[in-house]
Amino acid sequence: MPIARGYAATDATSPLTPYTFERREPNDDDVVIDIKFAGICHSDIHTVRNEWKNAVYPIVPGHEIAGIVKAVGSKVTKFKVGDRVGVGCFVDSCVGCATRDLDNEHYLPGLVQTYNDVDTLNGNAPTHGGYSDSIVVKEGYVLSIPENLPLDAAAPLLCAGITLYSPLHRWQAGPGKRVAIVGMGGLGHMGVKIGSAMGADVTVLSQTLSKKDDGLKLGAKDYYATSDEETFKKLAGYFDLIICTAGVAIDWNAYLALLKPKGAMVVVGAPEHPIPVHAFSLIFGAKELSGSMIGSIKETQEMLDFCGEKGIVSEIEKINIQQVNEAYERVLKSDVRYRFVIDMASLDA
Ligand code: ZN
Repeated sequence: MPIARGYAATDATSPLTPYTFERREPNDDDVVIDIKFAGICHSDIHTVRNEWKNAVYPIVPGHEIAGIVKAVGSKVTKFKVGDRVGVGCFVDSCVGCATRDLDNEHYLPGLVQTYNDVDTLNGNAPTHGGYSDSIVVKEGYVLSIPENLPLDAAAPLLCAGITLYSPLHRWQAGPGKRVAIVGMGGLGHMGVKIGSAMGADVTVLSQTLSKKDDGLKLGAKDYYATSDEETFKKLAGYFDLIICTAGVAIDWNAYLALLKPKGAMVVVGAPEHPIPVHAFSLIFGAKELSGSMIGSIKETQEMLDFCGEKGIVSEIEKINIQQVNEAYERVLKSDVRYRFVIDMASLDA
């Protein structure tokens, strides 16, 4: 079995520490990837700290993976050694299903997450993610990263990028559409870039104006502080689509009031508490409140190709893996513009 080196959490409260483990012996349809970079997603922190009550230790987190193909199995046709590739939030789906629903595989039972899950192809061993030097993934779950995108800044596209692209695409963000992005963090800044590249008029709704210059630079047309009550008066009935990346409680009824008739508000951030919404906030104006989670492999490739065409990557701060615990604390304080990416070469340091 191939040996991998990485960093793992061994319980909910200790820092991540160096960890050596076995990857599965590659199958005919597997791609072996040398991991070059891995983004730090807030869900990595939720998972390793067992805030979602599903942690099985040790956990090697990381589902924003960018690297180079090191070897391919005999039945692999889409990739060859040296290709630039990515791996996102899942590495298998619909185990045992007769038909694979290629548009909705990420919403169906049988999804195998990139880490903190069970690898049925490897005797139910735990899956381990991208905070490591290599990974073995079935060809159908490997993505191509366009040649013109730098691998380090492309890594966050695999989770943050597709999380915003999917609802923007599904609700047809484009010319003539007014889109609000709530929250200007790792997710939100991708929404600004992708939404404006699609041709929509993008407005950022953030607690304060501290990141306003960045928001406008990345493509937003307007930027408002939600701490200012005037914002809600001024923008009433204004938006076709609101995408909420906030992981904290907000006044949902106040935001729904910002939608035009038949507009949609889509939840992609996960606040801790249930969402309190008045029926009339939806009834008046036939408004829609929906959710969205990452995207299928097909849609993720479409997103990467779109980003290649438009030259879109994440705004990143690159770190060595030895700084990962410090980076977690900074993510919790929103002290990053806008995504940490671990340089895996630092494993040798
Ligand atoms: Zn993520």
